[in-house]
Amino acid sequence: MTEMNSPRAECPVCGSQRTEPVLHLPQIPVFCNLLWPERSAALAAPRGDMRLGLCNDCGHLFNQAFDPGLMTYDQAYENSLHFSPSFQRYARGLAETLVERYDLHGKDIIEIGCGQGDFLGMLCELGNNRGVGFDPAYVEEGALPPNVTIIPDYYSEKYASHRADFLVSRHVIEHLARPRAFAAMLRRVMAHRPDAVLFIEAPSADYMVAHTALWDIIYEHYAYFGRASMTRLFEDAGFQTLDLYETFGGQYLCLEARPAASSGQPATGRADVTAWRDQVRDFARSARAEIARWRRELERLAAANKRVVVWGAGSKGVMFLNLLPPQARLIDFVVDINPRKQGKFVAGAGQQIVSPDFLRDYRPDVIILMNRNYQDEIQEMAAALGLSPEFRFV
Ligand SMILES: [Zn+2]
Repeated sequence: MTEMNSPRAECPVCGSQRTEPVLHLPQIPVFCNLLWPERSAALAAPRGDMRLGLCNDCGHLFNQAFDPGLMTYDQAYENSLHFSPSFQRYARGLAETLVERYDLHGKDIIEIGCGQGDFLGMLCELGNNRGVGFDPAYVEEGALPPNVTIIPDYYSEKYASHRADFLVSRHVIEHLARPRAFAAMLRRVMAHRPDAVLFIEAPSADYMVAHTALWDIIYEHYAYFGRASMTRLFEDAGFQTLDLYETFGGQYLCLEARPAASSGQPATGRADVTAWRDQVRDFARSARAEIARWRRELERLAAANKRVVVWGAGSKGVMFLNLLPPQARLIDFVVDINPRKQGKFVAGAGQQIVSPDFLRDYRPDVIILMNRNYQDEIQEMAAALGLSPEFRFV
């Protein structure tokens, strides 16, 4: 018998108690990016509740039922997007922009949550910079780019002696149980480097809400930062916002900031989240309707004896398959171009992950695509395999 966690009322960004539950997704896999070597193990993967809550003061969205005790990021964690050419192009463009904008040449760069060091390597290569990356899930595999060191650990103040002109953290803060402590730690580390710049990237809650991107909700993401709550978090911690913008077709939110000149400097003004609150409530209604619509659609395809595959074993694909039981059990395979995922099984839902080549013989009638950003490359690959399936977009 496990003890029920009472939903957390306090907003992790602004501390307000004025929070409300908006969307409940029961018993989703705790690690949707952790793949399993056997179907039975995948079906028995650990699960947790997603009770998405909204802060009525800063607009932040977070899982009120989040249990940080369930989360550990070790070397079995596979979260790499770098096999996709679209994502590669995006990362390279972003690195070029940052090197130019902040004149990153011969500088010291720290990346928190650097994965295998791909992005850090680009930043260093483009500007002949020196990089130190931190990631507990780093797996040593071959040589790193020149001037790049990776420390397989969480970044903390004990590493403050590593100087940085530029601190990058991409797709990290949405995982953190205590984002305010993280922002405050960064501010202390950067206290003596007023010219240093902080770059933060996270999935955009504004995009998720505007596009009903409910498949982007995963247990690993405790937090969903929008423009309002991202700014609030870092300005409250003593940063001055230099820029705030969306990238990757609007799906990511990027903040550039530097330590504010004096502590206690008033923020640029508290955002009015009244309109946002209504948008979030509409989003929750649309999300429930979307789940119902896909259930009917999968039932219809099954009744017509259509052979259906999902393309993309990233988090969207895994959540799509997990939020539609039992209908998604009618799908047997998920395609992914990442060779490290192929042959493994989807957490919770149990489908096997296969390579695009597998489709040459399997010949699906319908391919469900998880991300329109990859539409062109996937349609080209399908054509090259001699397939002419129907494409559906989630
Ligand atoms: Zn708040």
